Amino acid sequence: MRVAVIGGGWSGIAAAVELTARGISTTLFEAGRVLGGRARSANLDDRMLDNGQHILLGAYRDTLDLMRQVDADPEQLFDRRPLSIIDNAGFKLALPRLPAPLNVAWGLLTARGVGLGEKLRTALWMDGIKRRGFRLAADITVVQWLDAAGQTGTLRRHLWEPLCLAALNTPADRASAQLFANVLRDSLGSPHREDTDLLIPQVSLGQLLPEPAGKWLRSQGATLKMRTRVQNLTPTDSTILVDGEAFAAAIIATAPQHVGALWPDGATNYLYEPIATVYLQFRSRTKLRFPLRNLMGRLGQWVVDRGDGLVGCVLSGRGAWETLDDNALAMALEDELALGEPALWHKVIREKRATFSAQPGIHRPDCRAVDRRIFLAGDYTWADYPATLEGAVRSGRHAGRLAHAISRY
Ligand SMILES: Cc1cc2nc3c(=O)[nH]c(=O)nc-3n(C[C@H](O)[C@H](O)[C@H](O)COP(=O)(O)OP(=O)(O)OC[C@H]3O[C@@H](n4cnc5c(N)ncnc54)[C@H](O)[C@@H]3O)c2cc1C
Repeated sequence: MRVAVIGGGWSGIAAAVELTARGISTTLFEAGRVLGGRARSANLDDRMLDNGQHILLGAYRDTLDLMRQVDADPEQLFDRRPLSIIDNAGFKLALPRLPAPLNVAWGLLTARGVGLGEKLRTALWMDGIKRRGFRLAADITVVQWLDAAGQTGTLRRHLWEPLCLAALNTPADRASAQLFANVLRDSLGSPHREDTDLLIPQVSLGQLLPEPAGKWLRSQGATLKMRTRVQNLTPTDSTILVDGEAFAAAIIATAPQHVGALWPDGATNYLYEPIATVYLQFRSRTKLRFPLRNLMGRLGQWVVDRGDGLVGCVLSGRGAWETLDDNALAMALEDELALGEPALWHKVIREKRATFSAQPGIHRPDCRAVDRRIFLAGDYTWADYPATLEGAVRSGRHAGRLAHAISRY
């Protein structure tokens, strides 16, 4: 029996690997030239860069597992470090290599720029959230949640709001507190110390998963149809026709805004948030003091040291930065970085619909919400998480297992 996977982002890759590993003859259709979707490598001015700077966490267990499955070694490909939030305004919270939850308690107690009273109140609040299993009585915005908890001081501005924007790509005044609590549950609230680690890619996004996965899939006999945008998905009594080709089942692993063109019942009406990545090239010996830094500037949020003097600044969610053209944005970020030297080169990449806006109460479709032989995969279907690589991978693996179960017979 054959199964079609439509879309070669991280969810489609995960689904195709899952099916192939289970011995199902799999065809992966991808509209673009390369695998990876919203997390891919791109040739920009003759340099291989990422279409957007990505950060992963130790808690991304399925992603790390999938990488190992296709012979991409996370130990080699990431710079793994205990979480540290350091910003340009003097705030610093650094977790030591102690067992959880001691690491978080110690990090909080020794945070720089925060009064003892606030630290103790925050520790009590975090303990209360944990005791309630990270479940909120009703979904509200992160701002409402923090207000209700009296989290109105330094930690709100320097920790919770920047973390929310980084994890949900949605500013705290419109972000879902329940989704944020889920992220905290699996990171700062995890009983495993390594889940809080930061994983900073040391290679391009393509080399992390899409390229090794493509190689692995081909070596296992899967068919990859690149530059092939599927136009038609038609269920018949006995098969699912994908542009006229017969399959026992199909997984639609596109971004949410593209599902409706293939399967109108799966259409969503999300609002979206943009992300811009601004690459600035400085002299090759220029370094940030820590590879990830919160700029706390007027525009920029996070900046990542990519080595050899290249830094990637991330601007998440709708905001003032959208009104600036590329040159003005690059110059403004150069000022905010204040490295004391001019950038030699810059490149701005804007993803207008980077992720769905993770607002309270939005509908997240079930992976089986359609014909029993058609499944949905993609970051938006993994309701436990905001739009993340880990949500995409988990959803793809799950859809692969379900499609395998019906296509065996
Ligand atoms: C700039 C940026 C920064 C981000 N930063 C982070 C981060 O730091 N950490 C993190 O965890 N997440 C981050 N994300 C989110 C993460 O990239 C996404 O959640 C994830 O890549 C989504 O994968 P997906 O497979 O669900 O969808 P997609 O990546 O959108 O894949 C869908 C694929 O389907 C293909 N397709 C669409 N229609 C068709 C068709 N009809 N036929 C064939 N193919 C089709 C598309 O070409 C695409 O390749 C970021 C996203 C962006 C854009």
